[in-house]
Amino acid sequence: MKVTSIVDGIIIDHVQSGTALKVLHYLHVDPTSTRLALIMNTDSHKYGRKDIIKIEESDDLDLTALGFIAPQATVDMVRQGHIVSKHKPDRPVHLVNVISCVNPRCVTSVERGADQCFHLDDSGVYRCDYCDEKAEL
Ligand SMILES: [Zn+2]
Repeated sequence: MKVTSIVDGIIIDHVQSGTALKVLHYLHVDPTSTRLALIMNTDSHKYGRKDIIKIEESDDLDLTALGFIAPQATVDMVRQGHIVSKHKPDRPVHLVNVISCVNPRCVTSVERGADQCFHLDDSGVYRCDYCDEKAEL
């Protein structure tokens, strides 16, 4: 088992290079008050370049948004300095209030407080339930 620089937490590996800060935003992680380490644009055998996010004490973290923003990522659970499990983010069929529709004419853009609902289509793209607009990062 590989020893890492965090003790208890998670490592989000194989994040598309340059998007680590966006991932933190979607996970509602506040970089000013969270113990974390970002490694950006490091070499990856698989993808050329990648970002890595290490978050200490991540138990309260809701990782739902990862299936949208970083589906190719790997999530490593770290306990007492050791990686105890690795998994790919789930790609939920429905996302509610995780991302917002970018279509200015969509009912969710017009009506304040409307739930932002997206579904995964057959090609693996998240689309707005109301107007079918493609979800954008
Ligand atoms: Zn929409």
